[in-house]
Amino acid sequence: MEIYFGVIKFLLGLCLGSFVNMLTYRTALRYEITRNKLQGTNQKRSFCDHCGKQLKWFDNVPLLSWLLLKGKSRCCDKKLSISYPLVELLLGILFLVSDYWLWPIEVFLVFSLVFDLKYMILPDFSTYILIGWATIFNHFLLASLGSFLFLLILYLVTKGKGIGFGDVKLAIFMGMFLGFPKILVAYYLAFIIGAIIGVILIILKIKKRTDPIPFGPFLIGATGISWWWGDKLMEIIKIWL
Ligand SMILES: [Zn+2]
Repeated sequence: MEIYFGVIKFLLGLCLGSFVNMLTYRTALRYEITRNKLQGTNQKRSFCDHCGKQLKWFDNVPLLSWLLLKGKSRCCDKKLSISYPLVELLLGILFLVSDYWLWPIEVFLVFSLVFDLKYMILPDFSTYILIGWATIFNHFLLASLGSFLFLLILYLVTKGKGIGFGDVKLAIFMGMFLGFPKILVAYYLAFIIGAIIGVILIILKIKKRTDPIPFGPFLIGATGISWWWGDKLMEIIKIWL
């Protein structure tokens, strides 16, 4: 029986990954970041990124369609972003290994991560859902307040150049969800990984020194790592200190 539950959880995660991909596109439309390519078509269905043609159901199966079509669209044979199957796979794996109550948090964290990577915005509604859900299950109010004040001060000191106000709002969720001392581990990781990746991007000339880099993905990644391995990492950090 175990294995069947595992398969169902994984498939459900894949489907929610597909939902995240759709939500990313629709939110970008609503924020008027992306131009609407669907004028005059039935917008309830999925469609091709390039030519706007409506997809058949079998071209819209999570992970499988992307693999079968070798990452290209059937209608116009153009490259489809690898982020689609990656998001689906990531949520499939996360659903497989985690408790049910974490699923909404995983869905919206992955959504915020992808959206910030693509558009440098952490959508408010996603952050509010995260804060709400975390407050129901984990209510580390003091850690949440401390986390918020910490990023707020950082935001004010750097005059919003280092981090955005979306990051400050996400900090409320992080504290509420992780509590103390895992929240410390999360910040420790976010800043270290952020600095390392930043330097690598500049060395590889993918980014210039003056280019803005979204900080949300580092906060989100660090939140995930700290949630799973925060206690063990705390021991290691203590030794270093
Ligand atoms: Zn097409």
